[in-house]
Amino acid sequence: MPLTDTHCHLDLDTFNSDRQAVLERAIQAGVERILIPGLSLTSSLSAVKLAESHPMLVAAIGVHPTEASGVEPSTLNELRALSRHPKVKAIGEIGLDYYRDSAPCSLQQKVLKEQLALAAELQLPVVIHFREKGGASGGDCASDLMKIMEEWGTGLRLEKSPLAERPGVLHSFSGTLETARAAMRLGFYLGVTGPVTFENGRRRQDLIAALPLDRILLETDAPFQAPHPHRGKRNEPAYVRLIADKIALVHSCTTDQVAAATSQNAQRLFAWE
Ligand SMILES: [Zn+2]
Repeated sequence: MPLTDTHCHLDLDTFNSDRQAVLERAIQAGVERILIPGLSLTSSLSAVKLAESHPMLVAAIGVHPTEASGVEPSTLNELRALSRHPKVKAIGEIGLDYYRDSAPCSLQQKVLKEQLALAAELQLPVVIHFREKGGASGGDCASDLMKIMEEWGTGLRLEKSPLAERPGVLHSFSGTLETARAAMRLGFYLGVTGPVTFENGRRRQDLIAALPLDRILLETDAPFQAPHPHRGKRNEPAYVRLIADKIALVHSCTTDQVAAATSQNAQRLFAWE
């Protein structure tokens, strides 16, 4: 059963003492590929460096919206140079975060648009983070984001860019069904993380039930968002299976079917062998 964890911060310090064992457990659990997203230029460099260490690891590079204030004029050029590395499969994670007050919304939007333009130039799909003020499921953040995505998607189609067929993923999706449908119309995939397994995860489960399997990606977001029964503890890529189990339950199919479909989706989106 081939599982793919399309979002795992395996480069973070919390894995320094046992990273190899974590990888071994992932392999034991059937995980065949792990994508490590960047959060800043520095973290993008460490994601790529770590990806070099094992054939199953690949990287995304980009500046997270909470890091938008740290973007300098040279940052985009450095990301562009780093993108030539064969392990780099996407630009991310990028997006909007109105939950944490770390950068003004207007600056976040500017930095997002710059990185979307870079992704179009490099023909790399994007990994999008978005989070509402107060942790709500729908609001300004979703509507600002979808406006920007629609503009970008329209531009890609006008330029007949092949990226229009595989623009990216909305990471750890917790928005409304309406936002999910708008994203799918643009060709986006939706990332499903640990909270779908929680006993109070009913809203996310209902949402996932309404999404076709061919639009879903599995993401642990480790070390964050550990699924049940590891809630509150350090998450790791082996637990991606627990998310697949829950989706299988919600979709009345087998975990194998979920694993196969979501791994194919990831292959289609990130265009790896
Ligand atoms: Zn993340």
